[in-house]
Amino acid sequence: MRIVLLGAPGSGKGTQSQRLVERLGIPQVSSGDLLRAAVAAGTELGRRAKEAMDGGRLVDDSLVLQMIRERLGEGDTRRGFILDGFPRTLAQAEALERLLRDLTQPLDAVVQLEVDAAELVRRISGRRCCADCGRVFNLFTSPRTAIESELCPKTGAPHHLTQRPDDNEATVAERLRVYEEKTRPLIDFYRARGLLRVIDAMGDVEEVSRRLSQALGAPALRAARAAKSATRRAPHRTGARRKAAQPKSARRRAKSATGRAARRGKARAGLRVNTRGKSPRTTRAGQGRPKGKPR
Ligand code: ADP
Repeated sequence: MRIVLLGAPGSGKGTQSQRLVERLGIPQVSSGDLLRAAVAAGTELGRRAKEAMDGGRLVDDSLVLQMIRERLGEGDTRRGFILDGFPRTLAQAEALERLLRDLTQPLDAVVQLEVDAAELVRRISGRRCCADCGRVFNLFTSPRTAIESELCPKTGAPHHLTQRPDDNEATVAERLRVYEEKTRPLIDFYRARGLLRVIDAMGDVEEVSRRLSQALGAPALRAARAAKSATRRAPHRTGARRKAAQPKSARRRAKSATGRAARRGKARAGLRVNTRGKSPRTTRAGQGRPKGKPR
C-alpha cells in the first residue's frame, strides 16, 4: 500500500505510521525525521533546513523534494510506503503526483487525522523522544510504566528523554499557522482525486489505530499483511524464483483465491467489480475513471 498521512503537527501521524510499519512491513518515510537526521549529520541539506525548522517554518520545496525523491528511489519502498509529513504544500503534492506517475506507483489512500487545536498543543507540549532509539513518548498520555521502566533497545539503559527544539510554545503556534495556510488545502486536492479519508484522531492511540485501519479498508490491509508474511517466509526468493518453487496447482489455487477475496473485499467496500475480464478492473461506484488516467 502507498499511503499519505495528513494532519497538523501533533495529530499523531508519526505514532500511527510506526504502528502501520509494524503491521504492514512497509517503511515510514517521514520528512521531519529525514530532515532532523540531515541536521544531526551536519550535511549541506541539514545546514540549509535548520533555520526554517527552528523557526517553525517550512523548508524549501526544492530541498524537501530532492530528499523525498532519493528516499522513494530506495528498494524498500517498492512494496509500499507511508508518507508522514510530506507533502505539506500544493507544490509538493503536485510534484509527488508526477513522481509516482513516473514510477507507476500511484497512491492508494490519503488519510487526514483530525484533532482539535487545544489537544494539539497539549500533545506537542508533552511529547518527548528518546535521544538514543528515537521512540516517542507523551508525558500526558503514555503509560507511566513505559516511560519510567522500559529500557532503550539501543543502550539497554532507561530511555534518555529529550524535547524537540521546535516543540516550544512560540514555534508550535507558528507551525499550526503554517499548517492551516499551506497544508490544509491538500485536503481538497486529495478529495478531488477520490483518495481522501478523514478520521477523528482524538482519543487514545489504540482507538485511533482502529479507526485508521477501518479507513484504509480491512481487505486492503489483509492483502498488505499477507504480502508481508510471504516475504518473511521466503526472504531470499523474489518474483520468478518464488513462482517456480510453487507447484502449478498451488499457484492456480492461490491465484483464484486471491481473485475471489479481492472481489469480495471490493464489493464490500462499495467498489464495482468487473468479473467478465480476466483481471478484474474496478472503479468507485458512480465515478468512471477516464482510460489511462491515474487513480
Ligand atoms: P510536525 O508534523 O510535528 O510539525 P515534523 O517532524 O513533521 O513535525 O517536521 C518538523 C519540521 O521539519 C517542520 O516544522 C518543517 O520545518 C520541516 N518539514 C518537515 N516536513 C516538511 C515538508 N514536507 N516541507 C517543508 N518542511 C518540512
